This record gives sequence, C-alpha cells and structure tokens, in this order.
Amino acid sequence: MSETNNLKRDLQHDIQMARKKFEGYEKLYMGLSGDGKKYLRNQSKTYKRSVLDIQQLILPSIQRNCPSCINCCQLDTPELSIYIAGSLGCFQFVDYILVRSDTVLPDPIFKNMKGNLCAFWAEGCILPIDCRSFTCINYFCDKLKKEIDMNVIAGHLNTIKSVMDSFLIQKCLGINK
Ligand code: SF4
Ligand code: SF4
Repeated sequence: MSETNNLKRDLQHDIQMARKKFEGYEKLYMGLSGDGKKYLRNQSKTYKRSVLDIQQLILPSIQRNCPSCINCCQLDTPELSIYIAGSLGCFQFVDYILVRSDTVLPDPIFKNMKGNLCAFWAEGCILPIDCRSFTCINYFCDKLKKEIDMNVIAGHLNTIKSVMDSFLIQKCLGINK
C-alpha cells in the first residue's frame, strides 16, 4: 500500500475511534449525579473564565488572520505538524466534561471529517467561545504569536492546565475508592 493510502487508512481508523470516544464521554456526562455535577460546575467556571479571557485577547488577531486560513482546524496538516484526527474537537475526557458542564454543544458535522476537517468547523469554529478544548485554546501559529502578548496568554493557560491537572474524575463520577 502506498504511503498516501496508508495515511488515508490511518486517518479513517482514527476518525472512527474519535467518534466512539466522544460518544463515551457524553454517556459518562449523562450519568453524572447531583454531587458530581455540583463539583463539575465549580471547576468548569474557572476553566471557562480563562478560556474566555484568552479568546478576548486573541480575537482581533483571529479576525485578521483566520478567515482565510483553516490550517489548524484540518485533521491532518503535515506542513504544520498538526494531526488532530484522534479526538473530536481535540477533546479528552476532562476538558470535554468541563465544557459540557452547563452547555449543550452543537452537533458535530461528521461529513467534514471525510474532507480532512474538524467536525466543529463551519466557516469558523461552531463551538461556543468558552467551550474549547485545551489543545485548541493552547495552539498559536507563528502569525498569531507575532501579534499577541504570549506572556499574558501563558498565565491563563496555566490556570486552565491546573484545573485540568487537579480535576478529580472519580469525585465527578461519584466513584468512592
Ligand atoms: S490560528 Fe493560524 S493556522 Fe490557525 S487558522 Fe488562524 S492563521 Fe491559520
Ligand atoms: S474544535 Fe474548533 S478550534 Fe478546535 S480544531 Fe475544531 S474547529 Fe478548530
């Protein structure tokens, strides 16, 4: 099999796995109890506040640069070393549940993925502005980095990271050791 066909085969496999993982995350969310949801809501507020702070800082640069470029929202962009086919919207369980907390997310557009594009893209990201995964909010291309004060961004990213690192999945799921 040629290298291109191998890549296509891997991409399709990873897309299928990503969809299954995403469905699993939603099932876990739907099974949360009252105490788990209360804990989640508190953690989610800090996560979303920091994502929003970043979004407000980067919006002018995004508006200038991104409408004519979808590079970082493609599943596989070898020239930028980006490969995001293994998870929908780049979500892992913890950031998924933190954004899902009090928000119904838009339905993924699965047909995008056949065209090497994120399922949450439609003339821009369709996720609510404070509902981005850590990978998405953490990515800045060289163009953006030149225009943005990355030291200020780093402070907000640290807050987001510390919410994720200290998040107690068992507490959220109501599992007692
Ligand atoms: S962040 Fe950079 S790579 Fe991504 S869409 Fe905007 S300009 Fe393109
Ligand atoms: S979730 Fe949004 S920002 Fe992240 S890759 Fe998809 S379209 Fe781009």
